[in-house]
Amino acid sequence: MAISEIREVAARFERIGAHSHIRGLGLDENLKARDVADGLVGQKKAREAAGVIVRLIKSGKMAGRGILIAGPPGTGKTAIAVAISKELGKDIPFVHVSASEFYSSEMKKTEALIQTVRKAIGVRIRETRVVLEGEVVGLDYNMVPNPYNPTQKIPESATLTLSTTDEKKTFSVSGRLALQFLYQGIEVGDVIVIDKETGRIAKLGKSRKAEKKYDIGEVDYVDVPSGRVEKEKEFTYVVTLHDLDEANARRGSIFSIFSPPSREIDNEVRDAVDEQVKRWVEEGRAELVPGVLFIDETHLMDIELFTFMNRAMESEMAPIIILASNRGFAKIRGTDIVAPHGIPLDLLDRLLIITTEPYSKDEIRKILEIRAAESGIMLSSDALEKLTQLGVENSLRYAVQLLAPAYEYAKLRNAGKVEVEDVERAAQLFVDVSQSSAYLKKWEEKMLA
Ligand code: ATP
Repeated sequence: MAISEIREVAARFERIGAHSHIRGLGLDENLKARDVADGLVGQKKAREAAGVIVRLIKSGKMAGRGILIAGPPGTGKTAIAVAISKELGKDIPFVHVSASEFYSSEMKKTEALIQTVRKAIGVRIRETRVVLEGEVVGLDYNMVPNPYNPTQKIPESATLTLSTTDEKKTFSVSGRLALQFLYQGIEVGDVIVIDKETGRIAKLGKSRKAEKKYDIGEVDYVDVPSGRVEKEKEFTYVVTLHDLDEANARRGSIFSIFSPPSREIDNEVRDAVDEQVKRWVEEGRAELVPGVLFIDETHLMDIELFTFMNRAMESEMAPIIILASNRGFAKIRGTDIVAPHGIPLDLLDRLLIITTEPYSKDEIRKILEIRAAESGIMLSSDALEKLTQLGVENSLRYAVQLLAPAYEYAKLRNAGKVEVEDVERAAQLFVDVSQSSAYLKKWEEKMLA
């Protein structure tokens, strides 16, 4: 498989995400919502409110405050939260949890909440590393029989010659690294980078000089790098505070092989990570990138979790917290107090509230069109009408979810386009939530009779 193909597969995988078509809030310079823009349709009031909030966040005026998106199920609450995060930055973390996920047998609920909060805080690290970079102009393996399987041969070492426009250098390479060369199919003509510290190899493509040997179109060509073979290169990447916590926890425990796996992380480990990050920031080697933490089904949080969250929001390292609720009044879990959305009043006071409304038929049709295009699915206009109808009668989510199975039926007919019959066939087999729960209710009644 050529690199260009692998890239395309990777891109297709990404698109499977249910909200991958959303690129922003789709607002103009005056923060007015365009009808259809950045992948978003309708829900204009919510989008415009979200636009103001994005400005507040960017100017640092949301510190210690959060956002609540209230609206019936399937009205795009998640979609709006995704759009807010896209407006805030391309590489910021976006974490989506349902409040029910905080309750598990593996760890305390407050620990689960802290870990989730720390997954939503990024650290952009700038690092200079020494690398070897150049075109492979010589690669000779010294093969020996594998001591564990003498019928097989493995490299004991290798001699590698790398060349740039200014220099040519030969290295002797360890058996471990030589094995990596074999696994990755590195050969003469490839342009590669080796991280000297970790021994990681990246293949950038074929050098243009090697072009004649290969069919054009199958391979990516790159220019031979200039300068010296061994050099310092700057890398920038984002990790989350939780990634750093985990890495530190592993390093810290010498007994880790013997102690039972615990997924809880000590507070000392987190404090050490915070100290380290602060130092990096002061030295100009890192930058904090607060991300978005989106918590669905907020009414499932109890009073203790709310208290913890309040504290997290006040901390100097806090993500943007967006809560979503489809409940009106509910009891605050762990108390007898009834409150709007089941949220304590002191927290409600700190939330800016956005509401979402049910979609019109035209909006549902447009969203289906966008989702189909995003997944590379062609629909006949009748099939689109049928799906729209199902979206109106059941839910938008149901109609969107029928796209993929309907497309499978179209492929079975050797057709490139989804027709009404494919949609009907899919709808017969897959029911929506109200149908599946009604079906089970009928059975329960029979069992009780
Ligand atoms: P909620 O969080 O309120 O339950 P949601 O955002 O998860 O709603 P779904 O009902 O699951 O929305 O939406 C199904 C699909 O439609 C998803 O792919 C979602 O991204 C998309 N979608 C929802 N609202 C919009 C919108 N206003 N514009 C474009 N796409 C949308």
